[in-house]
Amino acid sequence: MTTDNKQRLLDLRYLRMARIWAENSYCQRRQVGALVVKDKMIISDGYNGTPSGFENVCEDDNNVTKPYVLHAEANAITKLARSSNNSDGSTLYVTAAPCIECAKLIIQSGIKRVVYGEKYRFEDGINLLRRADIEVLYLNPEENETE
Ligand SMILES: [Zn+2]
Repeated sequence: MTTDNKQRLLDLRYLRMARIWAENSYCQRRQVGALVVKDKMIISDGYNGTPSGFENVCEDDNNVTKPYVLHAEANAITKLARSSNNSDGSTLYVTAAPCIECAKLIIQSGIKRVVYGEKYRFEDGINLLRRADIEVLYLNPEENETE
């Protein structure tokens, strides 16, 4: 097996793990999960949700997502701010394409690769990542591992 194929298998597996991690989210409209991997270690994780200490409800009475809900990527990155690890040179696995707000955080946190599993109608986040020379890869987590 070539190095490229090995990397692809790892990417698919981490992406599937991120999808399982998304199940932690109590958000009704959409569940998103993220993992930060560095040197083959998961150094952080996140899913979309309200900040620590807030009620575990993402939507208001009109089923609109509350403005203070953090996206999975933002939760994974800010979790690192409280740890002794850092994301410099790491890979972010996220189940949905990052938005432009998260793309800014990804760039500033030194993440060098982003693997995502679901396309979004807006591509401005993805485009910003590319402009910052971050490798961006879309993978279908359902993809068969044997090729
Ligand atoms: Zn976002």
